[in-house]
Amino acid sequence: DTIGDDFDRTVAADPDREALVEVPTDRRWTYAQLRDDVDALALGLLKTGVVKGDRVGIWAPNMAEWTLLQYATAKIGAILVNINPSYRTHELEYVLKQAGISVLVSARAFKTSDYAGMIEEVRGNCPELRSVVLIGSGAWDELLAAGRCGDAARLAAAQAALSPDDPINIQYTSGTTGFPKGATLSHHNILNNGYFVGALCGYTPADRVCIPVPFYHCFGMVMGNLACTSHGATMVIPAQGFDPEATLEAVQRERCTSLYGVPTMLFIAELNHPKFAAYDLSSLRTGIMAGSPCPVEVMKQVVSRMGMEQVTICYGMTETSPVSTQTRMDDSLDLRVSTVGRVHPHLEIKLVDPATGLTVPRGEAGELCTRGYSVMLGYWNDPGKTAEAIDAARWMHTGDLAVMDADGYVNITGRIKDMVIRGGENIYPREIEEFLYTHPDIVDAQVIGVPDVKYGEELCAWVKLRDHAAEVTAETLRAFATGKLAHYKIPRYVLVVDEFPMTVTGKVRKIEMREKSVRILD
Ligand code: ATP
Ligand code: MG
Repeated sequence: DTIGDDFDRTVAADPDREALVEVPTDRRWTYAQLRDDVDALALGLLKTGVVKGDRVGIWAPNMAEWTLLQYATAKIGAILVNINPSYRTHELEYVLKQAGISVLVSARAFKTSDYAGMIEEVRGNCPELRSVVLIGSGAWDELLAAGRCGDAARLAAAQAALSPDDPINIQYTSGTTGFPKGATLSHHNILNNGYFVGALCGYTPADRVCIPVPFYHCFGMVMGNLACTSHGATMVIPAQGFDPEATLEAVQRERCTSLYGVPTMLFIAELNHPKFAAYDLSSLRTGIMAGSPCPVEVMKQVVSRMGMEQVTICYGMTETSPVSTQTRMDDSLDLRVSTVGRVHPHLEIKLVDPATGLTVPRGEAGELCTRGYSVMLGYWNDPGKTAEAIDAARWMHTGDLAVMDADGYVNITGRIKDMVIRGGENIYPREIEEFLYTHPDIVDAQVIGVPDVKYGEELCAWVKLRDHAAEVTAETLRAFATGKLAHYKIPRYVLVVDEFPMTVTGKVRKIEMREKSVRILD
Protein backbone atom coordinates (compact mmCIF):
# COMPACT_ATOMS: atom_id res chain seq x y z
CA ASP A 1 0.00 0.00 0.00
CA THR A 2 0.97 3.61 -0.44
CA ILE A 3 0.33 6.21 2.23
CA GLY A 4 -2.51 7.67 0.15
CA ASP A 5 -4.23 4.28 -0.27
CA ASP A 6 -3.99 3.55 3.43
CA PHE A 7 -5.38 6.99 4.28
CA ASP A 8 -8.32 6.54 1.89
CA ARG A 9 -9.16 3.20 3.47
CA THR A 10 -9.29 4.79 6.93
CA VAL A 11 -11.57 7.56 5.61
CA ALA A 12 -13.89 5.03 3.99
CA ALA A 13 -14.16 3.03 7.21
CA ASP A 14 -15.61 5.96 9.16
CA PRO A 15 -15.79 9.28 7.31
CA ASP A 16 -17.44 11.15 10.19
CA ARG A 17 -14.90 10.36 12.87
CA GLU A 18 -12.80 13.28 14.03
CA ALA A 19 -9.40 13.18 12.31
CA LEU A 20 -7.58 16.35 13.29
CA VAL A 21 -7.91 19.09 15.89
CA GLU A 22 -5.73 22.19 15.99
CA VAL A 23 -6.23 23.36 19.55
CA PRO A 24 -4.86 26.96 19.42
CA THR A 25 -7.29 27.90 16.60
CA ASP A 26 -9.99 25.35 17.46
CA ARG A 27 -10.09 24.16 13.84
CA ARG A 28 -11.45 20.61 13.41
CA TRP A 29 -11.63 18.10 10.57
CA THR A 30 -13.53 14.82 10.30
CA TYR A 31 -11.80 12.16 8.21
CA ALA A 32 -14.04 13.02 5.23
CA GLN A 33 -13.26 16.73 5.57
CA LEU A 34 -9.56 16.01 5.87
CA ARG A 35 -9.67 13.84 2.76
CA ASP A 36 -11.45 16.62 0.85
CA ASP A 37 -8.75 19.15 1.78
CA VAL A 38 -5.91 16.70 1.18
CA ASP A 39 -7.31 15.80 -2.24
CA ALA A 40 -7.84 19.45 -3.15
CA LEU A 41 -4.26 20.27 -2.21
CA ALA A 42 -2.93 17.21 -4.07
CA LEU A 43 -4.84 18.09 -7.22
CA GLY A 44 -3.88 21.75 -6.87
CA LEU A 45 -0.21 20.72 -6.77
CA LEU A 46 -0.68 18.49 -9.82
CA LYS A 47 -2.26 21.39 -11.69
CA THR A 48 0.72 23.63 -10.95
CA GLY A 49 2.94 21.01 -12.55
CA VAL A 50 4.24 19.04 -9.57
CA VAL A 51 4.91 15.44 -10.61
CA LYS A 52 6.04 12.24 -8.93
CA GLY A 53 9.57 12.55 -7.58
CA ASP A 54 9.55 16.38 -7.39
CA ARG A 55 10.71 17.75 -4.06
CA VAL A 56 8.20 19.84 -2.15
CA GLY A 57 9.62 21.53 0.93
CA ILE A 58 7.68 22.30 4.10
CA TRP A 59 9.09 24.92 6.42
CA ALA A 60 6.67 25.60 9.24
CA PRO A 61 6.02 24.82 12.87
CA ASN A 62 3.27 22.33 13.81
CA MET A 63 0.00 23.35 12.18
CA ALA A 64 -2.84 21.60 10.36
CA GLU A 65 -1.53 22.60 6.94
CA TRP A 66 1.65 20.64 7.63
CA THR A 67 -0.46 17.50 7.96
CA LEU A 68 -2.51 18.35 4.85
CA LEU A 69 0.66 18.71 2.81
CA GLN A 70 2.10 15.48 4.21
CA TYR A 71 -0.82 13.47 2.83
CA ALA A 72 -1.28 15.55 -0.34
CA THR A 73 2.32 15.00 -1.45
CA ALA A 74 2.07 11.30 -0.56
CA LYS A 75 -0.98 10.97 -2.81
CA ILE A 76 0.82 12.27 -5.88
CA GLY A 77 4.25 10.85 -5.12
CA ALA A 78 6.00 14.18 -4.60
CA ILE A 79 8.86 13.88 -2.12
CA LEU A 80 8.13 15.93 0.97
CA VAL A 81 11.25 17.58 2.38
CA ASN A 82 10.94 18.47 6.07
CA ILE A 83 12.78 21.68 6.86
CA ASN A 84 13.71 22.50 10.42
CA PRO A 85 11.53 25.41 11.62
CA SER A 86 14.49 26.89 13.50
CA TYR A 87 16.63 27.26 10.42
CA ARG A 88 17.92 30.60 9.24
CA THR A 89 18.89 31.70 5.73
CA HIS A 90 22.21 29.88 5.48
CA GLU A 91 20.72 26.51 6.43
CA LEU A 92 17.56 27.09 4.40
CA GLU A 93 19.57 27.75 1.29
CA TYR A 94 21.62 24.61 1.91
CA VAL A 95 18.52 22.40 2.13
CA LEU A 96 16.76 24.03 -0.82
CA LYS A 97 19.79 23.33 -2.97
CA GLN A 98 20.80 19.98 -1.53
CA ALA A 99 17.33 18.50 -1.98
CA GLY A 100 16.59 20.39 -5.20
CA ILE A 101 13.28 21.71 -3.92
CA SER A 102 10.96 23.08 -6.63
CA VAL A 103 7.98 24.11 -4.50
CA LEU A 104 8.35 25.47 -0.98
CA VAL A 105 5.38 25.71 1.35
CA SER A 106 5.94 27.83 4.44
CA ALA A 107 4.24 29.68 7.23
CA ARG A 108 4.60 33.47 7.16
CA ALA A 109 6.27 33.74 10.54
CA PHE A 110 6.53 32.01 13.89
CA LYS A 111 7.99 33.56 17.04
CA THR A 112 11.30 35.14 15.97
CA SER A 113 11.27 33.45 12.56
CA ASP A 114 10.23 35.66 9.66
CA TYR A 115 9.99 32.84 7.14
CA ALA A 116 8.65 34.99 4.31
CA GLY A 117 11.51 37.48 4.65
CA MET A 118 14.18 34.78 4.85
CA ILE A 119 12.83 33.01 1.76
CA GLU A 120 13.03 36.25 -0.22
CA GLU A 121 16.66 36.64 0.84
CA VAL A 122 17.80 33.29 -0.54
CA ARG A 123 15.37 32.77 -3.37
CA GLY A 124 17.62 34.31 -6.00
CA ASN A 125 20.35 31.78 -5.21
CA CYS A 126 18.13 28.76 -5.74
CA PRO A 127 17.33 28.38 -9.45
CA GLU A 128 15.42 25.12 -8.95
CA LEU A 129 12.90 26.76 -6.63
CA ARG A 130 9.92 27.47 -8.92
CA SER A 131 7.31 28.59 -6.46
CA VAL A 132 6.79 29.59 -2.86
CA VAL A 133 3.40 29.23 -1.23
CA LEU A 134 2.82 30.87 2.13
CA ILE A 135 0.16 29.13 4.21
CA GLY A 136 -2.91 31.33 4.56
CA SER A 137 -1.90 33.63 1.69
CA GLY A 138 -3.81 34.16 -1.53
CA ALA A 139 -1.50 31.68 -3.27
CA TRP A 140 -2.40 28.98 -0.73
CA ASP A 141 -6.12 29.61 -1.19
CA GLU A 142 -5.74 29.51 -4.98
CA LEU A 143 -3.91 26.19 -4.79
CA LEU A 144 -6.78 24.66 -2.82
CA ALA A 145 -9.42 26.31 -4.98
CA ALA A 146 -7.79 25.02 -8.15
CA GLY A 147 -7.81 21.54 -6.67
CA ARG A 148 -11.44 21.73 -5.60
CA CYS A 149 -12.85 22.11 -9.09
CA GLY A 150 -13.17 18.63 -10.43
CA ASP A 151 -10.79 16.24 -12.15
CA ALA A 152 -10.82 13.56 -9.46
CA ALA A 153 -9.82 11.11 -12.18
CA ARG A 154 -6.50 12.89 -12.65
CA LEU A 155 -5.68 12.54 -8.97
CA ALA A 156 -6.76 8.89 -8.93
CA ALA A 157 -4.50 8.18 -11.91
CA ALA A 158 -1.53 9.88 -10.26
CA GLN A 159 -2.14 7.92 -7.07
CA ALA A 160 -2.48 4.62 -8.91
CA ALA A 161 0.87 5.15 -10.63
CA LEU A 162 2.80 5.04 -7.33
CA SER A 163 4.72 2.15 -5.85
CA PRO A 164 5.17 1.59 -2.10
CA ASP A 165 8.93 1.54 -2.60
CA ASP A 166 9.08 5.03 -4.15
CA PRO A 167 10.89 7.67 -2.11
CA ILE A 168 8.26 9.88 -0.50
CA ASN A 169 10.06 11.84 2.16
CA ILE A 170 13.40 13.37 3.00
CA GLN A 171 13.71 13.77 6.75
CA TYR A 172 16.70 15.37 8.32
CA THR A 173 18.26 13.91 11.45
CA SER A 174 18.21 16.08 14.56
CA GLY A 175 21.75 17.35 14.23
CA THR A 176 22.57 16.25 17.75
CA THR A 177 26.08 15.13 16.87
CA GLY A 178 26.84 17.38 13.92
CA PHE A 179 25.21 18.68 10.77
CA PRO A 180 21.80 17.08 10.01
CA LYS A 181 21.72 14.37 7.34
CA GLY A 182 18.78 13.90 4.94
CA ALA A 183 17.36 10.38 5.16
CA THR A 184 15.35 9.33 2.10
CA LEU A 185 12.36 7.21 3.06
CA SER A 186 9.69 5.31 1.12
CA HIS A 187 5.94 4.84 1.72
CA HIS A 188 6.78 1.28 2.77
CA ASN A 189 9.36 2.50 5.30
CA ILE A 190 7.31 5.03 7.18
CA LEU A 191 3.76 3.76 6.71
CA ASN A 192 4.64 0.37 8.18
CA ASN A 193 6.58 1.92 11.02
CA GLY A 194 3.75 4.29 11.92
CA TYR A 195 1.32 1.38 11.77
CA PHE A 196 3.36 -0.84 14.10
CA VAL A 197 4.05 1.97 16.57
CA GLY A 198 0.29 2.58 16.77
CA ALA A 199 -0.42 -1.13 17.06
CA LEU A 200 1.94 -1.48 20.03
CA CYS A 201 0.20 1.48 21.70
CA GLY A 202 -3.07 -0.37 21.15
CA TYR A 203 -4.58 2.44 19.05
CA THR A 204 -8.18 2.16 17.96
CA PRO A 205 -10.42 4.81 16.38
CA ALA A 206 -11.39 5.84 19.91
CA ASP A 207 -7.89 7.15 20.66
CA ARG A 208 -7.06 10.86 20.68
CA VAL A 209 -3.36 11.47 20.45
CA CYS A 210 -1.76 14.70 21.67
CA ILE A 211 1.27 15.46 19.45
CA PRO A 212 3.44 18.28 20.85
CA VAL A 213 6.59 16.94 19.15
CA PRO A 214 7.61 18.50 15.83
CA PHE A 215 6.05 17.27 12.56
CA TYR A 216 9.32 18.24 10.98
CA HIS A 217 10.74 15.18 12.72
CA CYS A 218 9.73 11.51 12.40
CA PHE A 219 8.39 11.55 15.98
CA GLY A 220 5.60 13.92 14.89
CA MET A 221 4.92 12.89 11.30
CA VAL A 222 5.38 9.11 11.54
CA MET A 223 4.87 8.04 15.16
CA GLY A 224 2.25 10.78 15.46
CA ASN A 225 0.34 11.35 12.24
CA LEU A 226 0.88 8.06 10.41
CA ALA A 227 0.25 6.01 13.56
CA CYS A 228 -3.08 7.84 13.95
CA THR A 229 -4.31 7.72 10.38
CA SER A 230 -3.38 4.05 9.93
CA HIS A 231 -5.53 3.18 12.96
CA GLY A 232 -8.30 5.76 12.50
CA ALA A 233 -7.36 7.69 15.64
CA THR A 234 -7.59 11.48 16.13
CA MET A 235 -4.54 13.75 15.83
CA VAL A 236 -4.47 16.63 18.31
CA ILE A 237 -2.06 19.54 17.77
CA PRO A 238 -1.67 21.36 21.11
CA ALA A 239 0.61 24.21 20.00
CA GLN A 240 2.94 25.29 17.22
CA GLY A 241 6.12 24.78 19.23
CA PHE A 242 7.16 23.14 22.50
CA ASP A 243 4.79 24.49 25.12
CA PRO A 244 4.35 22.37 28.25
CA GLU A 245 1.36 24.27 29.59
CA ALA A 246 -0.51 24.37 26.28
CA THR A 247 0.11 20.63 26.05
CA LEU A 248 -1.39 19.95 29.48
CA GLU A 249 -4.33 22.17 28.57
CA ALA A 250 -4.91 20.35 25.27
CA VAL A 251 -4.88 16.95 26.96
CA GLN A 252 -7.52 18.15 29.41
CA ARG A 253 -9.71 19.95 26.87
CA GLU A 254 -9.60 17.31 24.16
CA ARG A 255 -9.70 14.36 26.56
CA CYS A 256 -6.57 12.90 24.93
CA THR A 257 -5.84 9.23 25.56
CA SER A 258 -2.21 9.36 24.48
CA LEU A 259 0.58 11.91 24.86
CA TYR A 260 4.01 12.09 23.27
CA GLY A 261 7.18 13.68 24.49
CA VAL A 262 10.91 13.82 24.79
CA PRO A 263 12.29 13.66 28.32
CA THR A 264 13.73 17.09 29.00
CA MET A 265 11.59 19.51 27.07
CA LEU A 266 8.19 17.98 27.59
CA PHE A 267 7.77 15.41 30.29
CA ILE A 268 10.20 16.94 32.78
CA ALA A 269 8.89 20.43 32.04
CA GLU A 270 5.27 19.29 32.36
CA LEU A 271 5.77 17.40 35.62
CA ASN A 272 7.57 20.37 37.14
CA HIS A 273 5.14 22.97 35.85
CA PRO A 274 3.75 25.10 38.70
CA LYS A 275 0.20 24.51 37.44
CA PHE A 276 0.63 20.79 36.84
CA ALA A 277 -1.79 19.77 39.58
CA ALA A 278 -4.54 22.02 38.21
CA TYR A 279 -4.97 19.96 35.03
CA ASP A 280 -7.24 16.96 34.74
CA LEU A 281 -5.24 14.37 32.84
CA SER A 282 -7.46 11.43 33.72
CA SER A 283 -8.23 10.65 30.08
CA LEU A 284 -4.61 9.62 29.43
CA ARG A 285 -4.04 5.90 28.98
CA THR A 286 -0.83 5.59 26.98
CA GLY A 287 1.81 7.63 25.23
CA ILE A 288 5.31 7.54 23.91
CA MET A 289 8.58 8.69 25.34
CA ALA A 290 11.39 8.70 22.82
CA GLY A 291 14.30 10.59 21.40
CA SER A 292 16.85 10.46 24.15
CA PRO A 293 17.56 8.47 27.28
CA CYS A 294 14.88 9.04 29.88
CA PRO A 295 15.64 8.86 33.58
CA VAL A 296 13.80 5.98 35.23
CA GLU A 297 12.55 8.38 37.89
CA VAL A 298 10.82 10.54 35.27
CA MET A 299 9.18 7.52 33.66
CA LYS A 300 7.85 6.45 37.04
CA GLN A 301 6.27 9.86 37.52
CA VAL A 302 4.77 9.78 34.03
CA VAL A 303 2.97 6.62 35.11
CA SER A 304 2.05 7.63 38.64
CA ARG A 305 1.38 11.39 38.32
CA MET A 306 0.21 11.65 34.70
CA GLY A 307 -1.75 8.41 34.80
CA MET A 308 -0.15 7.04 31.65
CA GLU A 309 -0.39 3.45 32.89
CA GLN A 310 0.36 1.97 29.47
CA VAL A 311 3.09 4.39 28.41
CA THR A 312 5.69 2.92 26.06
CA ILE A 313 9.27 3.89 25.32
CA CYS A 314 10.44 3.83 21.72
CA TYR A 315 13.99 3.78 20.50
CA GLY A 316 14.90 4.58 16.94
CA MET A 317 16.48 7.00 14.53
CA THR A 318 15.40 9.00 11.49
CA GLU A 319 17.31 6.61 9.23
CA THR A 320 15.15 3.66 10.35
CA SER A 321 11.72 5.23 9.87
CA PRO A 322 12.31 5.65 12.95
CA VAL A 323 11.41 2.98 15.52
CA SER A 324 13.43 -0.22 16.05
CA THR A 325 12.52 -1.22 19.60
CA GLN A 326 9.51 -0.47 21.80
CA THR A 327 8.25 -1.55 25.17
CA ARG A 328 4.95 -3.44 25.10
CA MET A 329 1.97 -2.31 27.14
CA ASP A 330 1.93 -5.64 28.96
CA ASP A 331 5.61 -5.55 29.90
CA SER A 332 6.16 -5.22 33.62
CA LEU A 333 6.22 -1.68 34.89
CA ASP A 334 9.85 -2.13 35.80
CA LEU A 335 10.82 -3.04 32.21
CA ARG A 336 8.70 -0.26 30.81
CA VAL A 337 10.42 2.42 32.83
CA SER A 338 13.95 1.10 32.58
CA THR A 339 14.44 -0.33 29.05
CA VAL A 340 13.58 0.64 25.47
CA GLY A 341 11.80 -2.70 25.06
CA ARG A 342 12.29 -5.41 22.48
CA VAL A 343 12.75 -5.40 18.73
CA HIS A 344 9.75 -4.26 16.67
CA PRO A 345 7.71 -6.71 14.56
CA HIS A 346 9.38 -7.72 11.27
CA LEU A 347 12.73 -6.17 12.17
CA GLU A 348 16.05 -7.57 13.29
CA ILE A 349 18.53 -6.04 15.69
CA LYS A 350 21.97 -7.13 16.81
CA LEU A 351 24.69 -5.66 19.00
CA VAL A 352 28.22 -5.75 17.69
CA ASP A 353 31.68 -4.87 18.88
CA PRO A 354 32.41 -1.72 16.86
CA ALA A 355 36.04 -2.74 16.46
CA THR A 356 35.54 -6.32 15.22
CA GLY A 357 31.96 -6.27 13.92
CA LEU A 358 31.25 -9.47 15.85
CA THR A 359 28.03 -9.91 17.83
CA VAL A 360 28.66 -9.43 21.55
CA PRO A 361 27.29 -11.84 24.20
CA ARG A 362 24.02 -10.91 25.92
CA GLY A 363 24.62 -8.53 28.75
CA GLU A 364 27.60 -6.86 27.12
CA ALA A 365 27.60 -3.44 25.47
CA GLY A 366 27.81 -3.22 21.69
CA GLU A 367 26.78 -1.01 18.81
CA LEU A 368 23.13 -1.51 17.94
CA CYS A 369 22.47 -2.42 14.31
CA THR A 370 19.04 -2.72 12.66
CA ARG A 371 17.89 -4.55 9.54
CA GLY A 372 14.54 -4.87 7.82
CA TYR A 373 11.81 -2.91 6.04
CA SER A 374 12.51 0.20 8.11
CA VAL A 375 16.01 0.95 6.87
CA MET A 376 16.03 4.09 4.73
CA LEU A 377 16.72 4.04 1.01
CA GLY A 378 19.82 6.12 1.77
CA TYR A 379 20.99 9.65 2.55
CA TRP A 380 19.72 11.94 -0.21
CA ASN A 381 22.41 12.43 -2.84
CA ASP A 382 25.13 11.14 -0.56
CA PRO A 383 26.20 7.61 -1.47
CA GLY A 384 29.40 7.99 0.56
CA LYS A 385 27.63 8.65 3.87
CA THR A 386 25.04 5.98 3.04
CA ALA A 387 27.78 3.38 2.60
CA GLU A 388 29.29 4.35 5.96
CA ALA A 389 25.94 3.81 7.70
CA ILE A 390 24.46 0.77 5.91
CA ASP A 391 26.73 -2.23 5.33
CA ALA A 392 26.65 -4.72 2.46
CA ALA A 393 24.24 -6.98 4.34
CA ARG A 394 21.83 -4.01 4.75
CA TRP A 395 22.49 -3.55 8.48
CA MET A 396 22.08 0.07 9.60
CA HIS A 397 24.83 0.94 12.08
CA THR A 398 23.24 3.32 14.56
CA GLY A 399 26.23 4.68 16.47
CA ASP A 400 24.37 3.87 19.70
CA LEU A 401 25.71 1.59 22.40
CA ALA A 402 23.27 -0.83 23.94
CA VAL A 403 22.99 -3.92 26.12
CA MET A 404 20.49 -6.73 25.53
CA ASP A 405 19.35 -9.10 28.27
CA ALA A 406 18.50 -12.77 27.89
CA ASP A 407 14.85 -11.98 27.09
CA GLY A 408 15.71 -9.47 24.37
CA TYR A 409 15.08 -6.29 26.35
CA VAL A 410 17.41 -3.50 25.27
CA ASN A 411 19.00 -0.77 27.28
CA ILE A 412 20.57 2.17 25.45
CA THR A 413 23.75 3.10 27.28
CA GLY A 414 24.51 6.12 25.13
CA ARG A 415 26.05 7.18 21.87
CA ILE A 416 29.49 5.88 20.99
CA LYS A 417 30.49 9.51 20.50
CA ASP A 418 29.33 10.49 24.01
CA MET A 419 31.10 7.74 25.89
CA VAL A 420 33.74 9.18 28.18
CA ILE A 421 37.06 7.44 28.58
CA ARG A 422 38.71 8.59 31.78
CA GLY A 423 42.06 7.09 32.64
CA GLY A 424 41.21 4.02 30.56
CA GLU A 425 37.80 3.49 32.21
CA ASN A 426 34.74 3.60 29.95
CA ILE A 427 32.08 5.78 31.53
CA TYR A 428 28.54 5.99 30.21
CA PRO A 429 27.19 9.49 30.94
CA ARG A 430 23.68 8.06 31.15
CA GLU A 431 24.58 6.15 34.32
CA ILE A 432 25.87 9.28 36.01
CA GLU A 433 22.84 11.27 34.89
CA GLU A 434 20.53 8.65 36.42
CA PHE A 435 22.46 8.99 39.64
CA LEU A 436 22.25 12.79 39.65
CA TYR A 437 18.45 12.60 39.45
CA THR A 438 18.50 11.03 42.90
CA HIS A 439 19.94 14.27 44.33
CA PRO A 440 17.13 16.20 46.04
CA ASP A 441 18.12 19.60 44.63
CA ILE A 442 18.69 18.51 41.01
CA VAL A 443 15.77 18.44 38.55
CA ASP A 444 17.67 17.72 35.34
CA ALA A 445 21.27 16.78 34.61
CA GLN A 446 23.52 16.12 31.63
CA VAL A 447 27.02 14.74 31.78
CA ILE A 448 29.83 15.07 29.25
CA GLY A 449 33.55 14.45 29.00
CA VAL A 450 35.97 17.35 28.78
CA PRO A 451 39.62 17.03 27.78
CA ASP A 452 42.09 16.52 30.61
CA VAL A 453 45.85 16.33 30.46
CA LYS A 454 46.23 13.69 33.14
CA TYR A 455 43.24 11.40 32.53
CA GLY A 456 42.46 12.06 28.86
CA GLU A 457 38.95 13.11 29.83
CA GLU A 458 37.20 14.26 32.99
CA LEU A 459 33.49 14.26 33.72
CA CYS A 460 31.61 17.53 33.72
CA ALA A 461 27.99 17.68 34.91
CA TRP A 462 25.54 20.41 33.91
CA VAL A 463 22.70 20.55 36.41
CA LYS A 464 19.41 22.39 36.70
CA LEU A 465 18.35 23.05 40.26
CA ARG A 466 14.90 22.82 41.80
CA ASP A 467 15.53 25.98 43.74
CA HIS A 468 18.10 28.64 43.03
CA ALA A 469 18.91 29.01 46.71
CA ALA A 470 20.26 25.44 46.78
CA GLU A 471 23.97 25.04 46.47
CA VAL A 472 25.38 22.24 44.34
CA THR A 473 29.09 22.37 43.64
CA ALA A 474 31.75 19.84 42.71
CA GLU A 475 32.53 19.58 46.45
CA THR A 476 28.98 19.07 47.70
CA LEU A 477 28.35 16.59 44.89
CA ARG A 478 31.47 14.66 45.80
CA ALA A 479 30.24 14.43 49.37
CA PHE A 480 26.83 13.25 48.14
CA ALA A 481 28.27 10.67 45.75
CA THR A 482 31.08 9.23 47.82
CA GLY A 483 30.22 5.71 48.87
CA LYS A 484 27.50 5.51 46.22
CA LEU A 485 29.53 5.83 43.01
CA ALA A 486 33.03 4.62 42.14
CA HIS A 487 35.43 7.53 42.59
CA TYR A 488 36.21 7.86 38.87
CA LYS A 489 32.50 8.28 38.05
CA ILE A 490 32.06 11.31 40.29
CA PRO A 491 32.03 14.44 38.11
CA ARG A 492 35.11 16.58 38.55
CA TYR A 493 33.27 19.70 37.39
CA VAL A 494 29.73 20.91 38.06
CA LEU A 495 28.07 23.76 36.22
CA VAL A 496 24.70 25.05 37.40
CA VAL A 497 22.63 26.18 34.39
CA ASP A 498 19.09 27.23 33.48
CA GLU A 499 19.13 25.66 30.03
CA PHE A 500 20.91 22.98 28.02
CA PRO A 501 21.72 23.64 24.36
CA MET A 502 18.91 21.86 22.48
CA THR A 503 17.98 20.72 19.01
CA VAL A 504 14.51 21.66 17.79
CA THR A 505 13.51 18.04 18.40
CA GLY A 506 14.26 18.49 22.08
CA LYS A 507 17.60 16.73 22.32
CA VAL A 508 20.53 17.95 24.30
CA ARG A 509 23.42 18.90 22.01
CA LYS A 510 26.35 17.49 23.93
CA ILE A 511 28.72 18.58 21.22
CA GLU A 512 27.82 22.19 22.06
CA MET A 513 28.01 21.50 25.82
CA ARG A 514 31.55 20.20 25.36
CA GLU A 515 32.62 23.30 23.43
CA LYS A 516 31.04 25.62 26.00
CA SER A 517 32.42 23.72 28.99
CA VAL A 518 35.93 23.91 27.65
CA ARG A 519 35.59 27.67 27.34
CA ILE A 520 34.02 28.10 30.78
CA LEU A 521 36.52 25.85 32.57
CA ASP A 522 39.51 27.38 30.86
P1 ATP B 1 22.23 13.42 14.31
O1 ATP B 1 22.18 12.05 13.70
O2 ATP B 1 22.00 14.48 13.31
O3 ATP B 1 23.41 13.65 15.17
P2 ATP B 1 20.15 12.44 16.06
O4 ATP B 1 20.86 11.13 16.00
O5 ATP B 1 19.74 12.93 17.41
O6 ATP B 1 20.98 13.57 15.32
P3 ATP B 1 17.56 11.46 15.34
O7 ATP B 1 17.47 10.56 14.18
O8 ATP B 1 16.45 12.42 15.59
O9 ATP B 1 18.85 12.35 15.18
O10 ATP B 1 17.71 10.65 16.69
C1 ATP B 1 18.15 9.30 16.76
C2 ATP B 1 19.00 9.10 18.00
O11 ATP B 1 18.28 9.48 19.18
C3 ATP B 1 19.39 7.67 18.23
O12 ATP B 1 20.50 7.31 17.44
C4 ATP B 1 19.66 7.65 19.74
O13 ATP B 1 20.97 8.11 20.02
C5 ATP B 1 18.68 8.66 20.29
N1 ATP B 1 17.47 8.01 20.86
C6 ATP B 1 16.27 7.87 20.29
N2 ATP B 1 15.40 7.28 21.11
C7 ATP B 1 16.06 7.00 22.24
C8 ATP B 1 15.70 6.38 23.49
N3 ATP B 1 14.47 5.94 23.73
N4 ATP B 1 16.67 6.26 24.44
C9 ATP B 1 17.91 6.72 24.21
N5 ATP B 1 18.30 7.31 23.08
C10 ATP B 1 17.39 7.46 22.09
MG1 MG C 1 21.80 10.17 14.39
